[in-house]
Amino acid sequence: MPTTHNYWPLVLDNLKSQISGSNYKAWFSRLEFVSTSNQGRKIILGVPSLFNKNYIENRYKGELKDAVSKYFPQVIHIDFQINKTEEEITPVVAQQEIIANLEEHPRLQANLSIDQEKTSTYLPKKNINNLNPRYTFENFVVAEHNEMAANISKAVVDQPGVLYNPVFLYGGVGLGKTHLMQAVGQKMLEKNPSYNIKYIPSETFLNQFQLALRKGEMEQFKNYYRNVDLLLIDDIQFLAGKESTQTEFFHTFNTLHQLNKQIILSSDKQPSEIKGIEERLLSRFNMGMVVDIAKPDLESRIAILNYKVEQMNLKLTSDQIYLVASAIDTNVRELEGVLNKIKGKMMFSPESEFSDNDLEHILITHKKTNLSAHLNSRTSQTDRIFQAVCKFFSVEKKDIVGPSRQQNIALARQFLMWFFKHELGYSYVSIGKMFGDRDHSTVMHATSKIDGLRKRDFRIQEKINLIKELAI
Ligand code: ADP
Ligand code: MG
Repeated sequence: MPTTHNYWPLVLDNLKSQISGSNYKAWFSRLEFVSTSNQGRKIILGVPSLFNKNYIENRYKGELKDAVSKYFPQVIHIDFQINKTEEEITPVVAQQEIIANLEEHPRLQANLSIDQEKTSTYLPKKNINNLNPRYTFENFVVAEHNEMAANISKAVVDQPGVLYNPVFLYGGVGLGKTHLMQAVGQKMLEKNPSYNIKYIPSETFLNQFQLALRKGEMEQFKNYYRNVDLLLIDDIQFLAGKESTQTEFFHTFNTLHQLNKQIILSSDKQPSEIKGIEERLLSRFNMGMVVDIAKPDLESRIAILNYKVEQMNLKLTSDQIYLVASAIDTNVRELEGVLNKIKGKMMFSPESEFSDNDLEHILITHKKTNLSAHLNSRTSQTDRIFQAVCKFFSVEKKDIVGPSRQQNIALARQFLMWFFKHELGYSYVSIGKMFGDRDHSTVMHATSKIDGLRKRDFRIQEKINLIKELAI
């Protein structure tokens, strides 16, 4: 059985992999494990000087917390013990660096201790649950394809945290996962208005977690999510490959589960088929009830259409409903899309009858636009991101794909490669081809460089966000 301090070298290794060699040497080579206390919730680390402590807290708070929580998952507080007064061992260059850094980010000056901050700007207020009032059980048509999932969700409302925990809903897009998990939230809230309920897409959880790390606000983040009565996390597949977020989520999950707090997760695949999620998390997902929502068959589609047609007050004959149900066999969202088009057409020509011809026209154009939208979407996104990056860095498209090694052209190229990989899902090889036949290893190097920078410097994420805005 390894004791806690056996893990310390692993923490240091983790830091070493995140921080450049000279910085690691200057700031972490003398960082020591001293002890843990408070049932493992506090870790005390030894540093050679106050200056060293402050520097770590200012510059590497996020990295340190990240690395520590990987191997000491219960730790909420990090404290330092100053071993010796050795101010003079701090390299002069690094001292200059911290001074420059403080000048650049004055807000860091007021913020020297990890435990000082108590409020956070990116976590919604306690009473905000993010539930969409439209997503209720009353508005949810139960049919063969979703019957099991609906029954389980209703049972959870009656016995939260006890019967099925977690509930893992999976299925393709537009089939009602988000609607159903939120319906549980609405109903629980109706029954018990003081319930602390949080609905959150996993990507938002990830962003909040990374912000918390960067700002050294892990304590608030943990408190926020470990104090809910019902946690709804949507599209958990987006945590694939995000190791530190998964670790954090694992502990949130365990805490809530032990307290018998209900957790509902959704994903596009069943746990065993999700790639890039830790085994221990997948096994947690399988602990409760895993249930799918299938594609609705013809009968189910007719039932859903009937309900929605009535709600929207559309005058459609049953033959016309049948026609829509036969033509659109993908998902409920698409059925809704067609109904909205029908409604639009009826609003523009309220006098005339809505004929079968009108319907046919709508169905044909809908199918055509859907198909071409699908084919075009990646191509046009590619173009838009390309233009946005060029604009952001003030460089020309031909330079980015050309051989220039000029600094800002090279940086623009690396950003663009990162976007193509992470946002558009192109392979390394195909990205290489798009950039004047570069080797895939060059692309890998570029994307991992941006990933590394992103971890260390919040301004990189800000750049990415700005570029995304330009690309809309
Ligand atoms: P998913 O999360 O699986 O991608 P959503 O829950 O967002 O799907 O559902 C897509 C749309 O279809 C939403 O507007 C939702 O209200 C609607 N919807 C899905 N299933 C049903 C259903 N059984 N009854 C009524 N509306 C449904
Ligand atoms: Mg959804």
